[in-house]
Amino acid sequence: MRRRDVPFFRPAIGDGEIAAVVECLRSGWLTTGPRVHAFEAAFAGAIGGGVSAVAVTSATAALHLGLEAMGIGPGDEVVVPTLTFTATAEVVRYVGARPVFVDIDPETLGVGPAQIAPALTERTRAIMPVHFGGRSCDMTALRALADRTGLRILGDAAHAFPAGHRGRPIGRCGADATAFSFYANKTMTTGEGGMLVTADPAIATRARTMRLHGIDRDVFDRFHRPQGGWGYDVVAPGFKYNMTDIAAALGLVQLERAAAFLADRARLARLYDEALRDLPVALPPGPSPGDDHAWHLYVIRLTDDARMSRDAFMEAMRARGVACSMHYRPLHQMTVWQPFCAGRHFPHADDYAARGVSLPLFMGMTDDEQAYVVDVVRDVLTR
Ligand SMILES: *Cc1c(COP(=O)(O)O)cnc(C)c1O
Repeated sequence: MRRRDVPFFRPAIGDGEIAAVVECLRSGWLTTGPRVHAFEAAFAGAIGGGVSAVAVTSATAALHLGLEAMGIGPGDEVVVPTLTFTATAEVVRYVGARPVFVDIDPETLGVGPAQIAPALTERTRAIMPVHFGGRSCDMTALRALADRTGLRILGDAAHAFPAGHRGRPIGRCGADATAFSFYANKTMTTGEGGMLVTADPAIATRARTMRLHGIDRDVFDRFHRPQGGWGYDVVAPGFKYNMTDIAAALGLVQLERAAAFLADRARLARLYDEALRDLPVALPPGPSPGDDHAWHLYVIRLTDDARMSRDAFMEAMRARGVACSMHYRPLHQMTVWQPFCAGRHFPHADDYAARGVSLPLFMGMTDDEQAYVVDVVRDVLTR
């Protein structure tokens, strides 16, 4: 087999995205304006159910605004899975609350009541399920737990657009608010960007105000509404999280392509499943019945039969030109989060961390590229 280079990810930016950004640049309006408003409306429409969508500079910003709007602060605890990106826990510190880390379900790599319920104390105010890799957590069970215990749910759906739970899109399937990411290598991109989606008008209003300095109206409203003019009030010390129209121009085009992107990733995931089935690897968990997987990541775990460490596997892949990745080194292993984990154990996340590999999976990956990845995985593991 001839050596070739396969990247871990390649963004799918077409002429439509480029034309939309150029049009925005020529329009005379660069920051939050008509394109952000249109993008919010289109994204809310894609989730459906009359939700509000608040466009911001990142999913991290969306998560921060979500916790802030829920009134979470010092003295409060928020439950976070250890198998996630550091942003999920970091925002808990932004509001002065304490992240309480929990292990994952070894089958689904997500979290449910079995992981979260034992971590609840009288100080717990919210839980942050992460739809790992694009696979929905059991939001029905988590909503029931939250209702029983009076908790809010802030969903980290950075991997999960578009995805669904029991026929309802992630974004309106049980969480009080949900954050999506449009970072460069997520399922759709605005370069950098994020969206907070909620059906709770109080959360939406507060997040809209706080994303722009705590000002009661955004600059586009001030200049373009008939009753507008220069006047505004500042009602809170807010943040600077508003999305630009340049990013929204890109997002509007990407959003139109999101279903086709998903079909492409789902097809590639099925092909990987078939091609890797007989190898000494555990395949990624598929969706629960009735759920829809976003297939942001395709994560395999080396089994004992692989007789090879994960690091040696990744090095062998790299040497043959295939860029793999690892999502994630669990947070309880990170220096900054260790003090929050004293006396706690995370055996399933530790096991995942020792065996997990994310294979290249992205819209526009060619059949030749995928066939080469499969050949190299087979060769490395059966040589
Ligand atoms: C990417 C990611 C984030 C942060 O998204 P940004 O848009 O880069 O802020 C948060 N949580 C998870 C699980 C992620 O993968």
